[in-house]
Amino acid sequence: MSETVNAVQEPVQSKSASYTAKAFAASAPTSPLAAASIQRRNPAPNDVQIQILFCGVCHSDLHQAKNEWVDFMPTVYPCVPGHEIVGRVAKVGSAVTKFKEGDTVAVGCMVNSCGVCASCKEGLQQHCDNAATVFTYNSEDKILGGVTYGGYSESIVVDEKFVLHVPDGLNPAGTAPLLCAGITTYSPLRHWKVGKGQKVGIVGLGGLGHMGLKFAHAFGAHTVLFTTSAHKIDDAKRLGADEVVISKNPEEMLKHERSFDFILNTVSAPHDVNVYINLLKRDGTMTFVGAPPKPVPLGVFGLIAGRRSVAGSSIGGIPETQEMLDFCGKHGITSDIELIPIQKINEAYERLLKSDVKYRFVIDMKSLNK
Ligand code: NAP
Ligand code: ZN
Repeated sequence: MSETVNAVQEPVQSKSASYTAKAFAASAPTSPLAAASIQRRNPAPNDVQIQILFCGVCHSDLHQAKNEWVDFMPTVYPCVPGHEIVGRVAKVGSAVTKFKEGDTVAVGCMVNSCGVCASCKEGLQQHCDNAATVFTYNSEDKILGGVTYGGYSESIVVDEKFVLHVPDGLNPAGTAPLLCAGITTYSPLRHWKVGKGQKVGIVGLGGLGHMGLKFAHAFGAHTVLFTTSAHKIDDAKRLGADEVVISKNPEEMLKHERSFDFILNTVSAPHDVNVYINLLKRDGTMTFVGAPPKPVPLGVFGLIAGRRSVAGSSIGGIPETQEMLDFCGKHGITSDIELIPIQKINEAYERLLKSDVKYRFVIDMKSLNK
């Protein structure tokens, strides 16, 4: 196992007392993740202290651990990734009303925001107009100083406004990826009103893509998966695809020209996005949720020709995340996961880069004590 990195940071402002928690951290863009100690604040009156049971492994964790988004959100080291958290409430502050000790709860990509701007008031905290969204990791920690640390850890302390209820009956490990992969696909499919009578494409069958398939299918759309991996065809059909197209095959692609109402692009790496524009109907939209580190070239003629649109979408707000979890509770939807001990995280990142995961790694946080 890799050596221990001491990630304890001196608080910039000692506003809050803290305790030490075990975690796994990246200490530089090229170093493997390794065991670390971090500081968590002691719960304030509005805080919930959560014992983390499971944390999903998002491709964003890998992008950020390796500082691939340096032009957009540079990584501050040590970096403790993880924003697909399911855990048990260990302690609540005196003013907490929504949670009690022992509840199964979840935390996603955000742990705070300004709370008073128009976007926050609409429940769209990820689009806070004051740019005050505090992401679960690699965001300024206004309480302890330094940056926030994510879910590859034994515990986390979060304001109750950013803690979610996990519906009874959902498998907790399979629920963890709903907190990012789930909401990031649910939200745009809802926003663009995907449903019955529509033909919808999902590009890429990874963590986000497989949740996109499940939701598009559940919303009643005719759902087509685009993949570069021929061996994923059977799984895609099981997960909700009505059709599967191998995107590297131009003839197969051509058959779908001008036929899609909506395409959700989940691809994590640079690729030719223009081939998908031509598959949209007049007035169709392709929305990016996948976030390749470098700009992707976009030919405008495909947009002009059919009055087509390209758009982007970022996770989802807190009320919609709860709505998504409740929808999953009602319909029995969870993620298809591979449970790993935290000691396998670097291997998992290697496999993620090869699109070799069915379809989300989830860390069993018990393994931190091994
Ligand atoms: P993932 O599990 O690694 O899945 C990505 C999939 O993209 C792969 O399984 C593969 O599918 C396809 N792919 C990979 N490299 C490709 C290439 N060179 N050309 C074409 N297709 C390729 O990743 P994820 O966790 O789902 O995340 C996907 C992206 O979404 C990441 O960039 C992540 O940072 C971003 N993200 C964005 C948000 C948001 O709020 N917008 C939230 C979470 C994540 P096939 O094998 O089927 O081709
Ligand atoms: Zn994520």
